[in-house]
Amino acid sequence: MRQDIPYAKQSISDADIAAVVRALKSDYITQGPEISAFESEVAEYCGAKYAVAVSSGTTGLYIGCQSLGLAEGDWLWTSPVTFVASANCALSCGAQVDFVDIDPQTYNLSVSALREKLIIAAKEDRLPKVVVPVHLAGQSCDMEAISGLAQEYGFHLLEDASHGIGGSYQNRPVGNCQYSEMTVFSFHPVKIITTGEGGMVLTNSLEHFNRLSRLRTHGITRDESLMQQKSHGPWYYEQHELSNNYRITDIQAALGRSQFSRIDQFIQKRHEIVENYTGLLKDLPITLPWQHSDTYSSFHLYVIRLELDKLRKTHLAVFQELREEGIGVNLHYIPVYLQPYYKKLGFKAGLCPEAEHYYAEAISLPMFADLTRDEQGRVAEVLQSVLSV
Ligand SMILES: *Cc1c(COP(=O)(O)O)cnc(C)c1O
Repeated sequence: MRQDIPYAKQSISDADIAAVVRALKSDYITQGPEISAFESEVAEYCGAKYAVAVSSGTTGLYIGCQSLGLAEGDWLWTSPVTFVASANCALSCGAQVDFVDIDPQTYNLSVSALREKLIIAAKEDRLPKVVVPVHLAGQSCDMEAISGLAQEYGFHLLEDASHGIGGSYQNRPVGNCQYSEMTVFSFHPVKIITTGEGGMVLTNSLEHFNRLSRLRTHGITRDESLMQQKSHGPWYYEQHELSNNYRITDIQAALGRSQFSRIDQFIQKRHEIVENYTGLLKDLPITLPWQHSDTYSSFHLYVIRLELDKLRKTHLAVFQELREEGIGVNLHYIPVYLQPYYKKLGFKAGLCPEAEHYYAEAISLPMFADLTRDEQGRVAEVLQSVLSV
């Protein structure tokens, strides 16, 4: 029977399974040594001082926003071409969201659109407190330019690098926080490495590290240097603010460490897949992913755009026919503000024309480390035949 090719899939090795079994047999199932080891390994690789592992990328974005003090009356701006979590984190903090249109080549938040929007917002006295650049498909945003605007207009930067672990920008790893206050990774199974569910927040600020550590676990600290009262005894801990349980488990961290030990292999493999796709697809009436010379993408996604003026089929028809032929294509993303929930908040179609134009043409082709040459060949063959009639 023909096997469908998914758009993304985790890559689990025997070593990953052994690592999880070891964790299960250890004394710690939840908070144990695997978590801090995982945090140090990722922080060191990325060149950031601190890392806080959490239950998901979503909770990482949320407590990141809280640590930046985002609250009622504040604005967060992000790209509309992202998963809803990049915007929802603001609403969860009681703040408001607005969207900055995308760059037509990288599909990341456009620096010129951001600048124009800031000029208007400055006049209207509604500048954002936080901007969340999303490294779409694993290609870093132009962080140097964005951080220049952050300094000029006085907003915080929280990078949503859910797609981006293992990539780099200006020859330095994504996650080093040179141009931002925090960077968030996601370890959902479709992403570059997985812990089942999981995420991590990186920062160079001790203050944010302490706050994130506390927000991860009920607003509680066990760090004696941070206590506000005299200790009652060895059992003592203090709650300093209201939060929730956003912890990851030692079992997951064991899987994460084992996965992360292959990060360079995973990225290398994804680049080989891209090279092969380029050869297979270069003559089709589609736009292949464009890469800025400052970036080395982790290639979480492989997004093509249909050149609809050269086709006799609609975007929807091409998408459906690919799915019918067992090619598990997907679409990243529906512009967030077109979601019914956001429309109820007052957002309307037309807000970000580039993002909507992109949405009308984009298709994510299968892309994951274990994708074989044969499978890629089938993707290309089916795509060619679907596009040719
Ligand atoms: C996956 C993803 C998230 C959320 O991560 P989870 O770990 O699934 O909570 C946030 N932003 C982007 C851009 C993502 O792709």
